[in-house]
Amino acid sequence: MNNPLLTQDLLPKFDHVRIEHMETAIDQILSENRMKIATLAQQDDPTWETLAQPMQALDDHLSNAWSVISHLNGVKNSDDLRKVYKNCLEKITEYSTEVSQNAALCEAYKKLAARDDFKDLSEAQRKSVENTLRDFHLGGVDLPEEQKQQYAALSRELAELSNRFSDNVLDATQNWHKHITDASELAGVPESAIDGAKQAARQKELDGYVITLDFPSFFPVMTYCDNRDLRREVYEAFVTRASDQGPDAGTWDNTPLMAEILKRRHSLSKLLGFNNYAERSLATKMARNTDEVLDFLNQLADKSKPVAEQEYAELKAFARDEYGVDDLQAWDVGYYSEKLRQQRYDISPETLRPWFPVDKVVPGLFRVAEKLFDVQIEAKPEVETWHEDATAYCISRNGEPLAWFYFDLFARQGKRGGAWMADCRVRWRNLRGQLQLPVAFLTCNFTPPVDGKPSLLTHDEVTTLFHEFGHGLHHMLTQVDVLDVSGINGVAWDAVELPSQFLEN
Ligand SMILES: [Zn+2]
Repeated sequence: MNNPLLTQDLLPKFDHVRIEHMETAIDQILSENRMKIATLAQQDDPTWETLAQPMQALDDHLSNAWSVISHLNGVKNSDDLRKVYKNCLEKITEYSTEVSQNAALCEAYKKLAARDDFKDLSEAQRKSVENTLRDFHLGGVDLPEEQKQQYAALSRELAELSNRFSDNVLDATQNWHKHITDASELAGVPESAIDGAKQAARQKELDGYVITLDFPSFFPVMTYCDNRDLRREVYEAFVTRASDQGPDAGTWDNTPLMAEILKRRHSLSKLLGFNNYAERSLATKMARNTDEVLDFLNQLADKSKPVAEQEYAELKAFARDEYGVDDLQAWDVGYYSEKLRQQRYDISPETLRPWFPVDKVVPGLFRVAEKLFDVQIEAKPEVETWHEDATAYCISRNGEPLAWFYFDLFARQGKRGGAWMADCRVRWRNLRGQLQLPVAFLTCNFTPPVDGKPSLLTHDEVTTLFHEFGHGLHHMLTQVDVLDVSGINGVAWDAVELPSQFLEN
């Protein structure tokens, strides 16, 4: 049978991708890439067409398989997938270090950059070569052999540690729940969240209600639940996830991992001649030095701290005068802030929900994007996805497809928290002139629909959706044909929030 992770489909065949395909695909791609790189690196007179362009094809091949595996690991996590993901991650990290420390390949790129006709390449092509040379240096190509090996070991350990870190967060989030049988314990919590808690209980084959640490369950308790003890319990479970404190203290503790990560980042930066990891991190960013970053943060703190202190004092006074609470605690802040807002402005995010059913918000978002960017967006329910909640869409202009994306909007078991955009395919044009269209994954963790009622979003969730779609448009409406600098590729990370915040605002 064909391995669907090795085929050249623009849209991955999600119905056919199995866990057993994953490591085989990565093994095969890595071994083919290694062979091709050995040949590419041995050129006397490399050009864009004989070196950079074929290297992009190799990168694209790998990232097209890896993007699907990483995505599934994020949205459909399981013990089996985790094992395979970990193995693949190890192999890819090793391969990446090996490529960036390949002195012959680096020499070939230097020759390409030194050619008389280098200046005739497009700006995107030159930028791609410059970034590649920078990344050879940051990957340790200039180091003596012994230090190259130290660097490789540090990279491998760092990849493993960060992966364990996020697995711990996911496990700690998903393993805690609070079973409630007496509805009065949930007094004050809005109906939509009560329905969600009933549904969560049914999924666990329990009576009554289940509160989880998924945001759509956690947040209404913190904001509306009159039961202070319950708020405290849920709050403590949430903020102590994956730590040495709280109800699961020590079980998924990330404290030692953080210390290990910091130590290795520091050593790695020192190897490369930086004073610290912050300097290493800025090597690919827009901010010029660590002083610039600290000045910015201090300025921000100077401006916001007095306002925050004043608001906090107001809230304390309000809770004391109106509710007799003399010791405002962390688990009270959301609750009394909401009470204060209702008293002062007579408006609550909860009362806005009926105006934001997801089946109106999504078409509304599309209409805004269609108007602003002169495109059309169409749902393609026939396209295979990884879950019934996920749908594919095509973006086109005058009937010509420009890009594709997937929406996966609701929180569920096995899915990592938060909201993010990730690339599935990157736009670029290969040597034969064929264009690969960009494809994006847009993932959120909104309140799921309950009992056939449409999901009603909060205004915050609407904002998040616009934000992520801004990242998506950045990736999808790129006009660049060079893989490393197309869409969000090669964009400095301290600039990458611009399109998302633009659309959000
Ligand atoms: Zn963002």
